[in-house]
Amino acid sequence: MRIGVIDIQGDVSEHVRILESIGASVVRVKRVPDLEGISGVVIPGGESTVIGSIMSQRGISKEIVERSIPVMGTCAGLILISKSVDGRNGLMPLLDISIRRNGFGSQRESFETDLNVKGIGKFRGVFIRAPVITEVKKGDILAEFGGKAVMLSDGKHLGLSFHPEIYGDSRIHRLFVDRLEA
Ligand code: GLN
Repeated sequence: MRIGVIDIQGDVSEHVRILESIGASVVRVKRVPDLEGISGVVIPGGESTVIGSIMSQRGISKEIVERSIPVMGTCAGLILISKSVDGRNGLMPLLDISIRRNGFGSQRESFETDLNVKGIGKFRGVFIRAPVITEVKKGDILAEFGGKAVMLSDGKHLGLSFHPEIYGDSRIHRLFVDRLEA
């Protein structure tokens, strides 16, 4: 199965490595033609304003929405696929949720914790200037932290406010890919 990773900024290589380790054929997506023939795409964490403006300039975001390409968005990637971001319209409104950038606050700007992920179990979640999901209008919540959803899915889209790639644990990527195959 061919999976894209948006290669603009952020922790691209870690996602590529994990996807390759589970047998996916990975395409680094820099331009619209790179989306050809992919079954799903990962949008990594990084800086959502940077990733979003370049995706939009290059027409990648529009193409993903128009073709309904399944997205796994992590951290900045989640921000980019949320319908409402800090009270404004998000770039690719694929998940009907509201999100607040950097919502975990300055005191806990970065931290890690064991999460309990539905269908997976214990998973080390790394939160780096992570967004807070303030409202889930639609979707299945797959993990929570402090009473807030930190991972959810809607159809084939998957959103995480944390980084799943730091420790090389492939189980969440596997879950995304398995759902594409289903
Ligand atoms: N705070 C970043 C943003 O708003 C996201 C941080 C991350 O992806 N680790 O884009």
